[in-house]
Amino acid sequence: MSNSINGEITRRGFLAKAGVGLVAANASGTLLGRSFAQLIVPEPPGKKLGWAVVGLGSLAINQILPAFDKCEQSRVVAFVSGHPDKANKLAARYGVNPKNIYNYENYDSIRDNPEVDIIYIVLPNSMHAEYTIRGLQAGKHVLSEKPMANTPADCQAMIDAGRKANRKLMVAYRCRYEPFNQEMIRMARSQELGQLKAFLGDTGFKIGDPTQWRLKKAMAGGGSMMDIGIYSLQAARYISGEEPIEINAMSYSTPGDVRFKEVEETITFQLRFPSGVLANCTSSYGYSGQARFRAVTTDGWFELEPSMWYTGNRMRVNRGNSLAEITIQPKDHFASEMDHMSQCVMNDKEPLTPGEEGLRDLKLITAIYEAARSGRTVKV
Ligand code: NDP
Repeated sequence: MSNSINGEITRRGFLAKAGVGLVAANASGTLLGRSFAQLIVPEPPGKKLGWAVVGLGSLAINQILPAFDKCEQSRVVAFVSGHPDKANKLAARYGVNPKNIYNYENYDSIRDNPEVDIIYIVLPNSMHAEYTIRGLQAGKHVLSEKPMANTPADCQAMIDAGRKANRKLMVAYRCRYEPFNQEMIRMARSQELGQLKAFLGDTGFKIGDPTQWRLKKAMAGGGSMMDIGIYSLQAARYISGEEPIEINAMSYSTPGDVRFKEVEETITFQLRFPSGVLANCTSSYGYSGQARFRAVTTDGWFELEPSMWYTGNRMRVNRGNSLAEITIQPKDHFASEMDHMSQCVMNDKEPLTPGEEGLRDLKLITAIYEAARSGRTVKV
């Protein structure tokens, strides 16, 4: 995903801040004294919990490992990988002791490593359940990437394993820790633009390599819905604050396209919520550049576009007769998400996005696929 927009916003934000600072200093006439007084001196580092990252692929290398730099309560101390060369190179880059590099066979011996408190599962979807359960049985807390697993039964088994081991289990729904999505939730709850009537969610990207695991049903569990449509499903639920009661859906895959022999290319789904809010969502692997969440209210609408990029999300608010872009200070929400998990472990608190949240989504995705297959409204 592109971060060029974010680069622009960040630069603009920085210049704006720097400008404010300079004006204040000049006006005061006591440049040195004021400058020191205004300095924000960071606190000394507090306790950081040790994390093991399982599966060193695209997300782990490009987003998760760099985010540890910005964490206050989390540090990476171990890797689990099928490729020791890659793991050793990353260990040198991130200061991980080579003795803390595991493979998928000796993974369970991580139980004997007191440096590891939390395990982050960043494997293909079909592997989340097994490696989460093995991690919990090793006495560690676990953060699993989304989708939590390929079936509700696997999600339930993960939850049960967490309870049995008395360890925390969280699903990596990163948008819940992202400031623009948090602002959407705040605006919906405050009703400052009236009552929420509809949610529109569109997410999609053009998938490439036809041999990748995302296009294998057994590994991915499904197509674009499991990978990117889940963001709109989540957003419809967290923005409305309700659980759907009825679902309609339709899916389409381009005939003869080898990428979509096993999984769906595009799926649209509609959700009816108890208050009367309706959601209309699309998800696709067939076209690029779709990342939009819009909340339509009695007095206007507010939207994010892009809505779930790693960086560069933007918000617009329409108050009926005026349209404005809202400025929000971006932050590394991967770091916020990991620190949230560390805080929950340190303070024995339930995560904002526990295993039960992942299970709810898998039950709804199963119903969405059933509605698309049968052509009938599914009650949930
Ligand atoms: P990648 O294919 O890039 O990486 C997956 C890694 O898993 C591989 O590099 C490999 O690591 C390991 N692995 C072990 N067995 C297999 C196997 N049989 N086939 C393929 N890989 C294997 O995937 P991503 O990093 O893009 O996605 C990983 C997970 O993260 C998925 O569940 C996905 O849904 C989720 N995700 C979440 C995002 C978010 O924004 N929250 C964004 C992107 C992905 P090694 O070589 O070290 O063994």
